[in-house]
Amino acid sequence: MTVRVQFLGSGNAFSDGGRANAAIHVTAPGVSLLLDCGGSALPAIKKHVDCESIDAIAVTHLHGDHFGGIAYFAIEQHFGGRKRELVVGGPPSLEARLRAAEQALYPDFFGPIALAYPFRTVVLGERPTRLGGADVTALPVRHVRLAEPHGLRVAVGGKLIAYSGDARWSEHLVPVARSADLFICEASYWSGEDPAHISYEQLMAHREELGAKRIVLTHLGATTLEHLDEVALEYAVDGTLIDV
Ligand SMILES: [Zn+2]
Repeated sequence: MTVRVQFLGSGNAFSDGGRANAAIHVTAPGVSLLLDCGGSALPAIKKHVDCESIDAIAVTHLHGDHFGGIAYFAIEQHFGGRKRELVVGGPPSLEARLRAAEQALYPDFFGPIALAYPFRTVVLGERPTRLGGADVTALPVRHVRLAEPHGLRVAVGGKLIAYSGDARWSEHLVPVARSADLFICEASYWSGEDPAHISYEQLMAHREELGAKRIVLTHLGATTLEHLDEVALEYAVDGTLIDV
């Protein structure tokens, strides 16, 4: 079965190159799952996807450029007439952080007004969770501790889509990427070591260890964008569509 992966937002936290924050749509028959929903994701989603077709959102970690768009998405769906349940899966503090974000952004809405559709969160972990028609596993990676960073493994249609989220290089990325039909890896920087993010050159140095069948870069920062003509791997732009 063909699994379709569309990079609705392929940018980093700073939207370098004018790219939208993280939002990756995974679809197959009976499956519609969004991986991350950053602060600027909603307009990026609406360029390509009917929001109501999205069954669930899986969040890698609790940074605004990865989960900050969920409150906007939730309100858009309320006024858009959604009746179906929306499920959001992510790290242990997802529920509390979402409630805090909602109260910071729209205190007049979340609370006084009930959403017009069922909304619930679920904590993702090492055991697969059924989410948006896929089986999703979340494994810890090294990024920024307070953001509770995880890489995702999404089993769908006989294919395995893996996603680094934000992560610096560490051996923790190996079980995230291992045997994946597609490994979506961040490349915030072109070279060097960073305490929070992997660079393209580090990824290339560890490429064989990862054991992924195919790698696509996303979350591209300014230094990576400056070297795009030297990139030997596939990389996403906003709107890139890949069949796996
Ligand atoms: Zn992050």
